[in-house]
This record gives sequence, structure tokens and C-alpha cells, in this order.
Amino acid sequence: MESASTYQAVEAVAPGRLELVRKPVRDPAPGEVRIRVEACGVCHSDAATVEGAFPIDWPRVPGHEAVGRIDALGAHVQGWAVGQRVGVGFLGGFCGYCVFCRGGDLVNCRNQEFTGIHRDGGYAERLIARASGLMSIPDEFSSVNAAPLLCAGLTTFSALRKAPAKPGDLVAVLGIGGLGHLGVQYARHMGFEVAAIARGADKAELAKKLGAHHYIDSAAGKPAEALQALGGAKVILVTAPSGKTVTETFKGLRPGGVSVIVGVSPDPIEVSGTDLIFGSRKLEGALTGDPETGEETLRFSALSGVSAMIETMPLAKAADAYAKMMAGKARFRMVLTMD
Ligand SMILES: [Zn+2]
Ligand SMILES: [Zn+2]
Repeated sequence: MESASTYQAVEAVAPGRLELVRKPVRDPAPGEVRIRVEACGVCHSDAATVEGAFPIDWPRVPGHEAVGRIDALGAHVQGWAVGQRVGVGFLGGFCGYCVFCRGGDLVNCRNQEFTGIHRDGGYAERLIARASGLMSIPDEFSSVNAAPLLCAGLTTFSALRKAPAKPGDLVAVLGIGGLGHLGVQYARHMGFEVAAIARGADKAELAKKLGAHHYIDSAAGKPAEALQALGGAKVILVTAPSGKTVTETFKGLRPGGVSVIVGVSPDPIEVSGTDLIFGSRKLEGALTGDPETGEETLRFSALSGVSAMIETMPLAKAADAYAKMMAGKARFRMVLTMD
């Protein structure tokens, strides 16, 4: 439901509390566009907003997997048109003039706001976004299907594409959840030998269905030894939000291998200097990706048939969708829809 001058949104108003509200429609400022949102994914990082892990100015609309059509252009916006379908991810748009932007490192732009944290996100019928953060959505995708690819998809695709593995190399994906179920698919379609690691025997069938060649049950034995038995991993993509799992798997890297952290964990990661030095192993983090890589994520997904497993809920049920995701019960991405 919306009138011309107001729209529905769901705001985080206090730690753990989401409320359905009505907000006045405003015009985009110079360099911004206004989007009529059609779908927005629910990501674990939304907890930063809802639980207040980041310093948040409440109320704040969460959501950084938003897809919709541009319905107004601010001044000086070039390259985008009213009616065009676009997406907005976690990175809210680079500035273009800071030292990192001028060096081509748009992800680490010093003046970049995070969508749903520093500015209102996509749990809403309208969204104002910086044009520099927009991604174009190809026709192959419905807005619902595109939404989870803008954060979960982009994050795993970008990390794997930048990683040092070559076709045929063993790549492990740690965790089969919102990120991991996409990571396994991307790794398979990029031509790697894929080992999926999760807790419990019940995930084995799903892992194989997603494209994993091997399934390692981390509860049944030592995952590092299982990886070494396969020759050692060139890359471990860590999507599980726990520092302990990184420690448990790190020695599964072969010499020159890298463990790439993409799932945010609050607890520290313990890795011994010996394990880093002997074998020249690396431990690194990767923060989502730039808009061009986002568009590549969508293009590669369309080409290879990679898709997120999605459950939809209407915007008014955002609190339920968020609670289900936080309880680890989403299979595997919750997406909010607007009518
Ligand atoms: Zn996210
Ligand atoms: Zn910048």
C-alpha cells in the first residue's frame, strides 16, 4: 500500500526491534537516484543494524540486497535512466575522489556509506541510493532471484574470482548457509575440485546437489586432515561465522594456500605462526565487491545457472523473516517482496 507522498518501510528502532512505518517520499539529492523497490534480501549482516553492532542512528531501515526500478534521478546523475532496473548492495557507492578510489580500489573508498547502516536500506518500498553504487540487473533474473546475489552472491563470487586457485585445484567452502550454498555453486562452475565442509551428515546430500565433489562432516573428524587427504586445499572460502572453524581447517591448506574469510565472526581467529610460515599459508579477509564485479556476478550466475535457494515473505513480515534468518532456519536466503 502506498500513496504518492508516503511509502511503507520497516525500521530498526531499538536493539532487536523492527517496526512497520510510513515515511514521506523525498527527492534524490545530486548524485543519487530514487528506487521503487521490488525485492530485498535479508542478510546476516543486517544484524549490525538491527542489533546495533555498528553505531547506528536509530531509526534506520536495514537491507542491502535491494532490487527495483529507478523512479527519479537526482541532479548530475549520468548513465542511468528512469525505469531502469537496478540493485543496491552493502557498499552504498564510492566517492570517486579519495586516494583509494583514485587508485581503483572502490571497495575501500574512504567515503563510502554502508547501505542499511549509514543510510536507509531496502526493507522499504522506496530507497534513495548513490548512483555510483548501482548495479544493473539483467532480464534473466526476477527481482526476487537477483536480490541475494547482490551481497551473498557478490561476496562469494568476488572472493573466489580473486583467489589464487586455477581450474582443477581443490577449493573448500566452509559452511553451507546463505553464503556457502552459493559459494559451492560458484566454485564448481569456475572449474575447481570442490570440497564442502559443514557440521553433520545431513548436509552431505545438499552439498553434492549444489556441485561439491566431496563432503566433509566437521563434526565427524578433523576437517584439516580430510582436506590434506585430498591433497590440501589451495583456497578455503570461510562463510561460517565462527573463528574456531577457521582454526580447525587452516592446516588443511596446501603450501601457498589461502583461507579467505567472508563470514563475519565476532570471536577472534587463532592461527599459529608455525602453520603460517611452514607452507607459506595466508589468512585474509574479503569485503563484498565493487559494482562492476556485482554485474559480473549476475552475468556469471545467468550463464552457469547458479541461483540462490529462496524463501519470500512480504515486507510487513520483515521481523519474522529476520528472526528466521537469525535462528539459522532460512533455507537459504529470505527475500522480502513489495506489493
Ligand atoms: Zn550482506
Ligand atoms: Zn572514495
